[in-house]
Amino acid sequence: MSLLNDLNPAQRKAVLETEGPLLVFAGAGSGKTRVLTYRIAYLIQEKKVSPRNILAVTFTNKAAEEMRERVERLLRWSAKGIWISTFHSACARILRQHIDRLGFGRNFVIYDEDDQQRHLKAVMKEMNLDFKMFHPMAMQNKIDQLKNEGITADRFHPSQFNIFEKRLALVYQKYQEDLHRNNGVDFGDLLLFVNLLFKKHPDILRSYQGLCQYVMVDEFQDTNLIQYQLIKQLVQEHQNICVVGDDDQSIYRWRGAEVGNILNFERDFPNTKVITLEQNYRSTRHILQAANHVVKQNRLRKKKILWTENPEGELLTLFVAEDEADEAQFVARQISKHVNSPLQGNAGNPDKQYRDIAVFYRINAQSRAIEEELVKHQIPYTIVGGLRFYDRKEIKDVLAYLRLIVNPSDGISLKRIVNLPPRGIGDKTMERLGLFSKERNLSLYEAMKASLKEDWLPPGVRERIEGFIQLMEWFRQEAEAISLSQLTMTLLTKTGYLERLKEEGTDEALSRIENIDELINLMAELERGEEEVTLETFLERVSLVTSVDLYENKENRVSLMTLHCAKGLEFPIVFMVGLEEGLLPHYRRGEEIEDLEEERRLCYVGITRAKEKLYLSRSERRSTFGVGRANLASRFLDELPFELIEVEEKERRMGSLLRQKTFWSDDFSQSVDKADFSIREDEASRREEIVFNPDGFYPLRTGMKVRHPKFGDGRVKAIEGMNEDQKVTILFKSVGAKRLKTRYANLEILE
Ligand code: ATP
Ligand code: MG
Repeated sequence: MSLLNDLNPAQRKAVLETEGPLLVFAGAGSGKTRVLTYRIAYLIQEKKVSPRNILAVTFTNKAAEEMRERVERLLRWSAKGIWISTFHSACARILRQHIDRLGFGRNFVIYDEDDQQRHLKAVMKEMNLDFKMFHPMAMQNKIDQLKNEGITADRFHPSQFNIFEKRLALVYQKYQEDLHRNNGVDFGDLLLFVNLLFKKHPDILRSYQGLCQYVMVDEFQDTNLIQYQLIKQLVQEHQNICVVGDDDQSIYRWRGAEVGNILNFERDFPNTKVITLEQNYRSTRHILQAANHVVKQNRLRKKKILWTENPEGELLTLFVAEDEADEAQFVARQISKHVNSPLQGNAGNPDKQYRDIAVFYRINAQSRAIEEELVKHQIPYTIVGGLRFYDRKEIKDVLAYLRLIVNPSDGISLKRIVNLPPRGIGDKTMERLGLFSKERNLSLYEAMKASLKEDWLPPGVRERIEGFIQLMEWFRQEAEAISLSQLTMTLLTKTGYLERLKEEGTDEALSRIENIDELINLMAELERGEEEVTLETFLERVSLVTSVDLYENKENRVSLMTLHCAKGLEFPIVFMVGLEEGLLPHYRRGEEIEDLEEERRLCYVGITRAKEKLYLSRSERRSTFGVGRANLASRFLDELPFELIEVEEKERRMGSLLRQKTFWSDDFSQSVDKADFSIREDEASRREEIVFNPDGFYPLRTGMKVRHPKFGDGRVKAIEGMNEDQKVTILFKSVGAKRLKTRYANLEILE
């Protein structure tokens, strides 16, 4: 049969094994998603299963869309009747039919995160809770977490000694009551309520069990407890459940994903057949080798074999940039070489389309530099699963403040920030001021000022408005005196905006801080440049970038996304930027890595998206709050085999370090001890490391020949850290390897 001809024997087996529990456990690019799509087609075409009796669940809307397209291509007719969906939309559909049984109206609304926050805050205010002690965002996170674990408000039992939990229990209860009054549900409720519905109303469960005769789940490693429970309930009777996944690609643990689900599947479904797929069809041999090398460093994993018959392909290209702008330019330059466009002079081999190319980064804030450079090169791009940098809430907030400083009559910006962070100037007051401004034909800001001379506002409110006006006037004066980046920093601290985000302390808040940080970096970077930067010129520049959507072709664009969004996708050409300690692996809170193995899996996911060519880059310097900081190479670069990487030509000018041993290596000193003395000259120059050198330390580079007063001559093997703490490892002819503090080493540079 033609369908099955496109599959290898193991894949075919997974397609034919339609009855009973099946686990396809396999590495990246081995055809797991392909198996699911072929299974669907096979069930319909060969087993004559009605499309209505099939449910396939994937992780993102994009993945669901892609799966539907793939099935349609196989069946050559519309796959409309098949239920291919994300967990959330499947649940929303079920609730639309039956939520009345839980006491809600079927016309319920689904609240997004912002609505959720608003409701939660209102509830907490009513309870007179101090937002400083009990942060709404922290509460929201906890509530979401409980929902992910399937714990409803009445089943949550706080510990008697934990004040936070005790409050949480009450807030959770009242929040749910509030949603109920509004006939609304939040995202977490979608899953939780279907679970409840199934538990409380066996007739409804039975009807869905009957409907969903064949259930399939893609990316099973990232399901959370409640999703797994739902699936178990659905297939309880017929057990026709096929899940596919890869423990090496579990990257949502921080959001409650339970990799245990995949590892325990066989226990939960005793008759499970397990099929492993070992052949990768996606990537070249070089790319696959690189991926395997990285992921095998993880200890908590099931060992898997993954090989490919694909050609060796090109080497991976590593670029070491001076700073993030240099890195972004590299990306834009390479893209221009690959794509034939009338706008670019083509130097390379332009056989690709923009849609064949993706750029992955670890955190959203990294997109800013890339976006700017792509705009400059007129390369069309799209941000997948996220917002463009300047469309992000926190960036818009800061820009609104800046706009208002420049132009006090900008009522829209004023409305946006007047109560942000909350300063007790609510919607009602603003409405009244709005009317007043119309009456007097004043701008809103002028109306605020004028209102102070009248007495129709309650004294407390007047005081707050006065405070706000004083603050804004003060900023306006400061703007004359200090630089733009300083002004913005001052603004963020003075208003308490930054402080609030820090207090929230959630991943979301941290990511907002990172974005703001990136905005300040941009300002600082411009200030270092030759042209004068004023608040006005800056805003003008930004409004140009924000209004750029000149590209008509919506389809053919470079995709930009975080590594988390990249799961399940594939592209001929992939750029992974920011391979630095602190970014990938990401240090979430200050200096600690939350989960190194998860970061490594994320890196693995990124590498395995590439079909033909993988570019890696890192930047020697990256700014944080406008201050440049030297960044060390990611340890994941160290884990890549040397032979698989070529260093991009251009960057030899500034010297790159390819594979310096770094301080995190356990075997650091031993490997140095065993190391070879004679570094060849050309290799030495390739291993240059430019060292941060603020107050006259040696401009040391690896490979340099140096003389120590006591140990004599030797060569620099490695450099760690910077400033006062910098350490250097030198292989001395007399005594072997020594690790010294650069500061006190008294080295003389010989060559
Ligand atoms: P991931 O772990 O990244 O989700 P996956 O295991 O789901 O990957 P697929 O996306 O299904 O892998 O397949 C990877 C690529 O290999 C796809 O382009 C797919 O069409 C191709 N492929 C898979 N199996 C075969 C096969 N037997 N013959 C030809 N191409 C195949
Ligand atoms: Mg897949």
